[in-house]
Amino acid sequence: MTTHAHIPLAGVIGAPIAHSKSPRLHGHWLARYGIAGYYIPLEVAQNDIAEVIHLLPRMGFVGVNVTIPHKETVLRLADSVTDRAALIGAANTLTYAKDGKIHADNTDGYGFIANLRQHVPSWRPADGPAAVLGAGGAARAVVSALLEAGAPEIRIANRTRARSEALRTEFGARVIVYDWVQAGNMLEDALTVVNTTALGMTGKPDLRVPLDGLNPRAVVNDLVYAPLQTQFLKNAAALGCITVDGLGMLLHQAAPGFERWFGTRPEVDDAARAAVLDP
Ligand code: NAP
Repeated sequence: MTTHAHIPLAGVIGAPIAHSKSPRLHGHWLARYGIAGYYIPLEVAQNDIAEVIHLLPRMGFVGVNVTIPHKETVLRLADSVTDRAALIGAANTLTYAKDGKIHADNTDGYGFIANLRQHVPSWRPADGPAAVLGAGGAARAVVSALLEAGAPEIRIANRTRARSEALRTEFGARVIVYDWVQAGNMLEDALTVVNTTALGMTGKPDLRVPLDGLNPRAVVNDLVYAPLQTQFLKNAAALGCITVDGLGMLLHQAAPGFERWFGTRPEVDDAARAAVLDP
């Protein structure tokens, strides 16, 4: 009997997972490139994660994306870890070797940078300070990517100051911590401004930060992508800034995994955006 073991399987592991847009995106790319593979959502509880990720390669999985709440746990379970995943302290992309060994990477920072470069080709992160609102998991990826891209200074304000302080301790002296109530002050002369908090998401309050000091030459990015145009982005656009929504980061962070698992570098274009946005 022939088996389907040669048909590559991939998916996204999280809990909950029903809301994930990744199956639509990878499904779109698989169809577009005519690849005989599957990408499925996998709801896995915290207690089962170790067993499941070791079992998957035996079932034909070539890799998986990992999302909340497993991103930190899988880093400890992997056989090898990229420097950037180690630095961020979390992994979102696992690739299985032929012998089932697990290679862990984090592509969120790559996705963040690629999104800004695609939408603002003239953006030069090394040309001036960056201001980051928030200090959660996404902020860690953004800060490490901005440092790697040469940002001379990264200012961080977070509601819970201790989390910003932890980022400064880990990422070094180019990181400067501001109080949350002074977040408006850190925008002055910043060339890159990023909301990495969950504020502005559907169902959450808006991010309210005074934008008086915002440089009209600043590129302003919101990691939130539902809605696409947050009030924060609308306010920044009204002041003349170039604004970039968070959907492109979601698309770009997925591309390296797809290429590793299915052998084709997928294009991040309007069709990919539409596939994810389709109701
Ligand atoms: P997280 O680790 O839970 O961090 C949440 C952040 O939001 C923390 O800085 C938290 O501050 C802040 N926050 C939450 N509620 C707040 C409130 N009421 N007032 C002030 N600050 C508040 O989550 P995450 O993984 O970093 O994700 C953060 C956001 O980025 C989410 O909206 C997520 O969807 C988005 N994201 C987008 C992409 C993409 O590809 N576009 C990728 C990753 C994440 P405290 O530390 O004080 O709690």
